Amino acid sequence: MRGYTIAFFLLGFLPLAGCARKPESPNDKKAEAPKLGRDVNVLLITIDTLRADYLGCYGRKTIATPNIDALAARGVRCAQAIAQVPLTAPSHASILTGTYPQVHKVRDMGGFVLDDKVPTLATILSPAGFDTAAFVGSAVLSHHYGLNRGFVTYGDDMKAGLDQKKLPGVVAELRGEVVTRRALDWLDKSSSKRFFLWVHYYDPHFPYDPPEPFRTRYAGDPYGGEVAYADEEVGRLLKALEERKLQERTLVVLLSDHGESLGEHGEYTHGVFLYDSTVHVPLIFAGPDVPAGRVVSQMVRAIDVMPTVTDYLGLPAGGKAQGASLVPTLLEGRPPRSSYCYMETLYPKTQMGWSELRGMRTDEWKLVVAPKPELYRFSDDRGESRNVVEKFPADADRLQKKVREVAGPPQSLTRIQPQLVNEERRRELNALGYVGAGRRAINIDMSGADPKDRVVVLNALMRSDEAMNHERWKDAVPLLEKISRQDPGNPLIYANLQMCYERLRQFDRMEQTCMRAIENKAESDSTYAGLGGIYIRRGDLPRAIEFMEKAAQLNPANLENMDNLATAYLQLGRPDDAQRVLQAILVQNSRHPGAHNVLGILEIQRGRTVEARMHFEQAMESDPNLAEPYMNLGLLAQKAGQSQVAINYYREFLKRAKPDKHGEVIPKVREALSELEAGTVGRVSDPASAGRRVRDPAYKR
Ligand SMILES: [Zn+2]
Repeated sequence: MRGYTIAFFLLGFLPLAGCARKPESPNDKKAEAPKLGRDVNVLLITIDTLRADYLGCYGRKTIATPNIDALAARGVRCAQAIAQVPLTAPSHASILTGTYPQVHKVRDMGGFVLDDKVPTLATILSPAGFDTAAFVGSAVLSHHYGLNRGFVTYGDDMKAGLDQKKLPGVVAELRGEVVTRRALDWLDKSSSKRFFLWVHYYDPHFPYDPPEPFRTRYAGDPYGGEVAYADEEVGRLLKALEERKLQERTLVVLLSDHGESLGEHGEYTHGVFLYDSTVHVPLIFAGPDVPAGRVVSQMVRAIDVMPTVTDYLGLPAGGKAQGASLVPTLLEGRPPRSSYCYMETLYPKTQMGWSELRGMRTDEWKLVVAPKPELYRFSDDRGESRNVVEKFPADADRLQKKVREVAGPPQSLTRIQPQLVNEERRRELNALGYVGAGRRAINIDMSGADPKDRVVVLNALMRSDEAMNHERWKDAVPLLEKISRQDPGNPLIYANLQMCYERLRQFDRMEQTCMRAIENKAESDSTYAGLGGIYIRRGDLPRAIEFMEKAAQLNPANLENMDNLATAYLQLGRPDDAQRVLQAILVQNSRHPGAHNVLGILEIQRGRTVEARMHFEQAMESDPNLAEPYMNLGLLAQKAGQSQVAINYYREFLKRAKPDKHGEVIPKVREALSELEAGTVGRVSDPASAGRRVRDPAYKR
């Protein structure tokens, strides 16, 4: 399935000189505008998945975006801003570092951590005397991926998040109002120092689920409803700045990380293609000395944002930036210094097993480097509907050379290795036996199908996503089964099918799906974790452990799998193995509630009740809704003769216990509780056996 396709070029390490333009030195700038940026704060607002053409200031008439429109009116609007990657984490890494993905190393979602050595806007502004804080609306930008570097405060706690169905690829998110509230709370508490505040709204991202009144108002266009809602939140944030008299002293930069395809070119969301539907983004600068109402018509890039802000503030951009300052463009209307924009997406390869794509865009042209290359000319084809690569070979060739300058020469056709965790954690995990962490290589050699030959699959995936999002698992199954035959090397299809069968409790079909994924080399750690869950259900713990260990080797950052694995070891009477897995969890999250609960049980087995209690209390604090620690604390209290304390804990346990998960234990706790309440102490179960069961995998998501 993954035949070697003749590729134009491949990617290697980026020659820094390539497409990059050296940002102007701050000294030059100071000579031109000596007072520029002095004592100015910076507010960076990124609105996820926001198409430029959904904003009033970019010509939309049907969606109300008065706040962003007003910001554009008092500042400079870039009409043709282009994101480097149509994916959240890589694109934000480009925005914050001013570099292409080859340099910052966040090549895709989930398995890539920002290179420690690349400066970010936050690592530059923090030592320059700025208070730094970020508040993000999605787990995709969790601190695990390194974008928190340089921020003293990094608000990425998703506990206040929406209760989501969590389709494969769908992550925890926060509503905009939560993000705004956190940002404003921080502003109120921050010192009188200058600040750099980054606020990230995730709302327009799929699934489209705007709150009222936007849901009703935009019933026919829920994506538009999310955009209008995000605009309202931007308005709240900007109004708060005004009320605090900060508007006159704050540079506001607003942009999106990528657009949304909404069916154009056969794509529905984003990530697969490099058409303007998903790489054309809004970009607005407003603040002191930024002229009101100017529009930059030439193409600019997301990597220009970081050097623009540092230049505006009179600071150096840190030596790695490949973008160029837009200050002369914004302030004086000069043309941008670079007219070439590199873009890429590895998502078709990593998620679908298809060829990755690279591209080069100018004001007039876009070349997409694919198994079947594409060239579009914007002067007479804004919609990128007529591929003219045969007609203009010299232009295609010139742009292809430009791609190579960034991505590397064809002979560098090679593999990359995701970094699931940062270097320090990787060392700790290696020491615990998880040498696979970040070792899984991906071929980025343009092998696999051309994504544009797979739009039928994309369409079926979209329809199955819709069905799954509304828990219509049965409707999704035939769609997915059909495309799994057409595109057997596609990991996402198996992941979705696996989830459907799990929810339908058709575990034999689920097992077959996992085995087919493995046969077709389209498996992931979730495939093995799923198989582990099936064997737990069948009571075959040794087999379950085999699969869960395999999942742990592939991805020790899958903490849910690690938690189940530790519990299975505990149940099999292998405390040392349980301890090792728990340590691997704590390396990644020192407050992990499940890990502390199991550690508590291990400590009881060792006769160390004080330590056990501390772990249960930590578990309770980390997740007040987790039922097990209450029961375990109740058992400890009962053994110590503290009847009233035990009664209280048991009551708290019963409030949280779920019949499908704690069915065996609930009657025992009820019995113990009634005996305690009657003043007669009965026999209690041993916490090691009753306190913790491997959770039914069907209820963990
Ligand atoms: Zn995004």
